[in-house]
Amino acid sequence: MFRPSIQKMQPYAPGEQPGAHERLIKLNTNENPYPPSPRVRRAITEAANATLRLYPAPRADVFVERASKLYGVSREMILAGNGSDELLAMIFRATLGRGDKVAYPTPTYSLYDTLAAIQEAKALRFPFGRDFIVPIAELARARARLTIICNPNSPSGTMTPVHELGGLAKKLRGRLLVIDEAYVDFAEENALPLLKSHRNVIILRTLSKAFSLAGMRLGLAFAHPEVIEGLLKVKDSYNLSRIALAGGAAALSDPGWMRRNVERVKQTRARVEARLRRMGFEVPPSQANFVLARMPGSDLSALARGLRRAGILVRYFSVPSLRDALRISIGTPSEMNALFKAMEQLVPSVAGGRRRSG
Ligand code: PMP
Repeated sequence: MFRPSIQKMQPYAPGEQPGAHERLIKLNTNENPYPPSPRVRRAITEAANATLRLYPAPRADVFVERASKLYGVSREMILAGNGSDELLAMIFRATLGRGDKVAYPTPTYSLYDTLAAIQEAKALRFPFGRDFIVPIAELARARARLTIICNPNSPSGTMTPVHELGGLAKKLRGRLLVIDEAYVDFAEENALPLLKSHRNVIILRTLSKAFSLAGMRLGLAFAHPEVIEGLLKVKDSYNLSRIALAGGAAALSDPGWMRRNVERVKQTRARVEARLRRMGFEVPPSQANFVLARMPGSDLSALARGLRRAGILVRYFSVPSLRDALRISIGTPSEMNALFKAMEQLVPSVAGGRRRSG
């Protein structure tokens, strides 16, 4: 039934999404623990009562206009997507055919592997250096048609300075550099200033994290107008619903709400990092709304399962380079207290296991 490459590829595995009746503390897919701006609810109610009979705006005009104002980027340099996942899919579809190269440091967002497999592209996976330093020189030398940097990176939470990404964009000499900034609202700087001097940079944002709208599916791509024109050719005509567009425009009109929630998450993050380190975990400094907790030499799958039994979902990636790690989203202070209470019961056996095996 399928192309041989689809037949043999592994599908992307999203984190567990519990059913409506399951009462779990959800720290596994980096959602925001706080609700979106109340303006969103008003806007989507109005949209639902108005013109659902008609198709939505193909270029998401009002939403893009709001993004243009908020980010100071002109409209022809902005493309709206059904989550940044859709924008990533569009980028892969528009730029990569069989055997074309796409390069990125790993471990990172594993959807890149999936999208490369769909295109039958050749994924060049460069392991991060110690402390998650991006291997800039190797990436530049690879001369891939597409290079991707997730910044802050998932699952490490670590950030590469933007000026280094500017250097990489220059070294790539016109080949595209995607900077996936899904988590950048929780970070100290962002790559938007690079758009002025680099025509080969695409910056991806999402409203799923800082704007608390994962359920709405809204993403933004920023790039030179020629790049946006190319991507538009592979876009579904009506990729965002009227409801999503109305909610997205309302969210972007209330950035103060988002920033207050981001500040709360950042304060909790600092406490969570410190506490995990006191428990003996290695935690790379995070600039995202999650942390990576490592116990070198251990396999933390049992801890993830134990937490699941205690009603707490965290993310365990069953790949060799991350078996000693859990990615934990930052929830509310009381959710994190519940996590630590459960961990204090479970961790001694994990740490003991490490000593025995090591
Ligand atoms: N990029 C990264 C690095 C992510 O972690 C995610 C969320 N899973 C996305 C992009 C996609 O976000 P969304 O499609 O919800 O905008």
